[in-house]
Amino acid sequence: MTTIPDITIIGGGIIGLLTARELTMAGARVSILEKNTIGQESSWAGGGILLPIYPWRQPSAISELVRHSLKLYPRLTSELKTATGIDPEWSPCGLFISRNPDIEQAIDWCDRYSINYRTEQTPSLDNLNCDPLNPLWLPDIAHARNPRLLKSARRDAENRNIELIEHCDVQNVTVKNGRIVSLTTDRGERPVGHLMVCAGAWTKTLFERFFSEFAAPEIQPIKGQMLLYDAPPNLLPGMILENDHYLIPRLDGKILVGSSVEHCGFDKSTSETTYRRLKSFAAHLCPALKTMPIITHWAGLRPGTEHGVPYIFRHPDLDNLSVNAGHFRNGLVMAPASARLMADLILGETPLIDLEPYSLFATH
Ligand SMILES: Cc1cc2nc3c(=O)[nH]c(=O)nc-3n(C[C@H](O)[C@H](O)[C@H](O)COP(=O)(O)OP(=O)(O)OC[C@H]3O[C@@H](n4cnc5c(N)ncnc54)[C@H](O)[C@@H]3O)c2cc1C
Repeated sequence: MTTIPDITIIGGGIIGLLTARELTMAGARVSILEKNTIGQESSWAGGGILLPIYPWRQPSAISELVRHSLKLYPRLTSELKTATGIDPEWSPCGLFISRNPDIEQAIDWCDRYSINYRTEQTPSLDNLNCDPLNPLWLPDIAHARNPRLLKSARRDAENRNIELIEHCDVQNVTVKNGRIVSLTTDRGERPVGHLMVCAGAWTKTLFERFFSEFAAPEIQPIKGQMLLYDAPPNLLPGMILENDHYLIPRLDGKILVGSSVEHCGFDKSTSETTYRRLKSFAAHLCPALKTMPIITHWAGLRPGTEHGVPYIFRHPDLDNLSVNAGHFRNGLVMAPASARLMADLILGETPLIDLEPYSLFATH
């Protein structure tokens, strides 16, 4: 006899994996259905900066999730490393933001969210050709090596007996008496207890196909391209953000350069124009990179919402449906708190923070 999982999650990105982890730790039996392989879409493609870019310019609903995630990350990554032997490389190397025309708002935000900052004493900028305007140094801000974070979260999921079904495209649902009873996938029919959609950029399309009589979360694919340089360790004093672009040093020296923000549907191709733009930014900001090889150039599809606030809700009309998606540019940093909040909702616990901003009909 086939047992029905308590929760079936569509989407094996960072949001699906960490939400499954939270629910399993509370005793639920969870399956993740992934149309490709686990952790290969936006969550893999991202830079892994564990702070939004200029968070003070964004809705406080983002900062609230970030505040909790920043507290959760050190323990989460250390537990994952111990449990799996795969190090997500949580690395609090600091973030230098060279130009801040709105420095007062930045400082207010740091004070409000207890983020350590310095405006005078910044790190050595010897290797850099910055153009500072009210520079801000956030010495405790970290990044995680997201491809390794995903590998580690995947191994942890396997250890916890979370069922991972890859190459399983969910194509339809059957609803009876206001409840989802089963899913149709390209690998057959699956009965459902509770369905959770963590399908990132594909969430709206999936909703429109499955639940056309209900409003869909407004999530659009927003392409981002990145470059990776082979560089020696310690070339940069930390992560550097200048205007809309950034450099992220990995522990082994490799440097990521990001990123573009492009509205072009589900097209994940890379372009020569963006390659040149990112390369020119990197070479200008850090001249030593001019002679260093670029190892790869890739693109990913962010789950974009208008204001960057994710949807985290139980569906108002379908009792056994919930959504955790739409984290746009900040899904890696918001993932641990989003997962906790989603789990609180499913388990009937007092939610970590006010849920209203993340509901289907929230206005920002
Ligand atoms: C270039 C770039 C840079 C970024 N930098 C950062 C950063 O520095 N910091 C940060 O916090 N965030 C960053 N992000 C954003 C972050 O990566 C995303 O917000 C986050 O990964 C979203 O996670 P997710 O699990 O919702 O989506 P995804 O990782 O895309 O996972 C969704 C999964 O759902 C699956 N799926 C979809 N439809 C179906 C279906 N019908 N059946 C089965 N499976 C399905 C997909 O195959 C996919 O694996 C960046 C993103 C990009 C692209």
